[in-house]
Amino acid sequence: MVLIYIDQDEQEIKKASFEAICYGAALAKQIGTTAEALLLGTVNDDLTALGKFGVSKVHQVNHLALNRFDALVNAQVVAEAAKKLGATVIVFAHNINGKAVAPAVAVKLGAGLVAGACALPNTAAGFVVTKTVFSGKAFASIQIETPVKVISINQNSFGVTVGEGTASVESLTVDVPTSKSKIKITSVDKIKGEVPLTEANIVVSGGRGLKGPENWGILLALAKALGASTACSRPVSDADWRPHHEHVGQTGLQIAPNLYIAIGISGAIQHLAGVNRSKTIVVINKDPEAPFFKAADYGVVGDAFEVVPALTAAILKSKAGA
Ligand SMILES: Cc1cc2nc3c(=O)[nH]c(=O)nc-3n(C[C@H](O)[C@H](O)[C@H](O)COP(=O)(O)OP(=O)(O)OC[C@H]3O[C@@H](n4cnc5c(N)ncnc54)[C@H](O)[C@@H]3O)c2cc1C
Repeated sequence: MVLIYIDQDEQEIKKASFEAICYGAALAKQIGTTAEALLLGTVNDDLTALGKFGVSKVHQVNHLALNRFDALVNAQVVAEAAKKLGATVIVFAHNINGKAVAPAVAVKLGAGLVAGACALPNTAAGFVVTKTVFSGKAFASIQIETPVKVISINQNSFGVTVGEGTASVESLTVDVPTSKSKIKITSVDKIKGEVPLTEANIVVSGGRGLKGPENWGILLALAKALGASTACSRPVSDADWRPHHEHVGQTGLQIAPNLYIAIGISGAIQHLAGVNRSKTIVVINKDPEAPFFKAADYGVVGDAFEVVPALTAAILKSKAGA
């Protein structure tokens, strides 16, 4: 059986989980087994609706302590659940939580792990999983030889297919080792009113080309018109033009929105490492030779101070039905 880990935050299923389910379901079909999901804690979402993504059953470890993420506790519970259910492949989304839990689960189960897979395994001879390496610049194909296998799937690399069907929900009893937690959370500061960058569908991002924090108004207006979250390049957050939680890239957040609009960002490899899994990339840069254009689906060569307000006005006009 293929077991898919459902990631949740504040009792909402994270969108990366839907793609992980679709991947797990396709893999189960390929190897002739069933796909089932595992949820730790409780969520407000309708769990039976996960059947639309391809699972027949959702196992729920209904323990309130699990509503607060703790990688070590979660790994212990997932490993125990996987053993109890007889899972042979465990699939995670390769997001912040998945990256923390999947390797620990693999260690606990003595399972081979491929972190950051980008395609279904080749099971014609063995079990070979392809993953991205060197910040998405190359691919590696890795054979997993252990009986139990763990895979985390890169966001936006497989896609989400919504079908028909409902999943049954079953309660699963597993020991929740809260006393073994080595992490004590003393306070949580949440940014209010913004969609977290890792969950955002549309992201509008700015770089040093915007010249200074006083010019961010044009970017914020575009983001508001699109209902987008905002991000920035590293020098921008290093200079305190924007808060550090907006920094995307190799050393910042890695995101995979449906639409990423890069304004005045050169497209250095370290920046691309955090955004190159976006479905559609739009680049606005006054330098036609800017490296970002090579990674762009659409590009506008022009001055951001002219292009961005014009784009915002056009979007608002179209929204108003004019
Ligand atoms: C180990 C390491 C890790 C790093 N990690 C990250 C990371 O996680 N994220 C990250 O972003 N960077 C990272 N960097 C830095 C990275 O190498 C680049 O220096 C950085 O991304 C450049 O930021 P930028 O594109 O905003 O600025 P610049 O490189 O200065 O580019 C500004 C761009 O704006 C354009 N421009 C200027 N004026 C206008 C205008 N009026 N209209 C339109 N376009 C205009 C220019 O043509 C230029 O392309 C890292 C570097 C190292 C060494």
